[in-house]
Amino acid sequence: MEHAYDYLIVGGGMAADAAAKAISAADAAASIGILGAETEPPYERPPLSKALWKGDKTLASIDLQTAASGAELHLGRRAQTLDRAGHRVVDDRGDNWRYRRLLLATGASPRVLPFAANERVIHFRTTDDYRRLRGYAVEGARIAVVGGGFIGSELAAALAGAGCKVRMLFPGASIGSGRYPPTLASFLDDYYRGRGVELLSGVKVVGGSAGDGDVELVLSDGRRLRVDAVVAGLGVVPDTALVEQAGLEVADGVLVDARLRTSDPDIWAAGDLANFFNPSLGRRLRVEHENAAVEMGAHAGRAMAGAGGDYTTLPYFYSDLFDLGYEAVGLLDARLQLVEDWSEPHRKGVVYYLDGGRVRGVLLWNVWGQVDAARALIAQPGPFDAASLRGRIPHDG
Ligand code: NAP
Repeated sequence: MEHAYDYLIVGGGMAADAAAKAISAADAAASIGILGAETEPPYERPPLSKALWKGDKTLASIDLQTAASGAELHLGRRAQTLDRAGHRVVDDRGDNWRYRRLLLATGASPRVLPFAANERVIHFRTTDDYRRLRGYAVEGARIAVVGGGFIGSELAAALAGAGCKVRMLFPGASIGSGRYPPTLASFLDDYYRGRGVELLSGVKVVGGSAGDGDVELVLSDGRRLRVDAVVAGLGVVPDTALVEQAGLEVADGVLVDARLRTSDPDIWAAGDLANFFNPSLGRRLRVEHENAAVEMGAHAGRAMAGAGGDYTTLPYFYSDLFDLGYEAVGLLDARLQLVEDWSEPHRKGVVYYLDGGRVRGVLLWNVWGQVDAARALIAQPGPFDAASLRGRIPHDG
């Protein structure tokens, strides 16, 4: 079957939704098609590991209502080949999709555990994964959470809150090690233990078997663990198969210019997939957070419709860990020089991440409304040191 759109968006996530809305605002007469591999229309992804567990949102309320932009959604289809010369995408059903301008927003896929999974082993990313985990997350259920990053730390808290017996496994020394200052990471470990989460640090899952009634995990230290279900957040890999097949420039994602255009003048990219230059940090980045998907998607949409300038935003991100929470900007790399400024130790404060006298990242720990101040600081040439940073970003509005 043949389809043709002025603007074709490959990928059906948050970046795709933002792009469709921006295109329709800038070019109301245009036809917009979205080709998405998931069967669900675009939805907000962050609530899957946060607000849905707290009861603050429902699956119905996270639907982004993309079709209201006028975009036509074609879901449950995976783009398989991209013929740049012919301005044509072919999907896994053999349908042809012609475009004038194309946005690639294919996102990323979870890394997987090294054994044959069944429905009790959830590599967490989608609403289907959320529904499946919810099914196992009953009072007293034994759930292993593998990974100590964003998904692991948020879901371990959510599952403990749902009354599950949670064991959290990760290769690092602590939850979020490498990201938070060591004293904050060990405070977090104690916080989780205090809320009933058992922590197994310094281990990886090296094998396992998933049965009808439970799952056995084999750990790198030789231990074996039997649980009712496993949820894993081992990081993600950008979905570059299509761009590689099409011969676009790829280096940790697809390379885009300041206007989010790839090495092909009729193709843009946004979200988890796109590797872009950020002027404040003076380097290229690939960011796997909601804010990057939404802002880059909207920016790419405007650029495709002939509007907008350079994309200069430094994305922020946020997390909820039981009743703790934060917003952050830039590079949270605990190997940098850390300046901690607590008004209440590990409860409220700001951590600055410095490199050669420049601020490269800011962690706003239970400090709200200061994302733009953090962005502005990262853009400044400095030099900064502990004395000039302490007290710089206020902790209360
Ligand atoms: P992540 O934050 O990169 O964390 C990955 C974790 O998996 C790390 O603790 C890593 O340990 C561990 N790991 C890697 N290989 C492992 C193995 N074989 N066995 C056990 N642990 C292993 O990624 P994520 O938590 O999976 O999140 C996926 C994506 O969703 C990310 O892009 C993230 O940005 C996004 N996300 C964001 C938010 C948010 O912004 N709040 C929330 C949820 C998800 P090492 O670091 O020691 O290797």
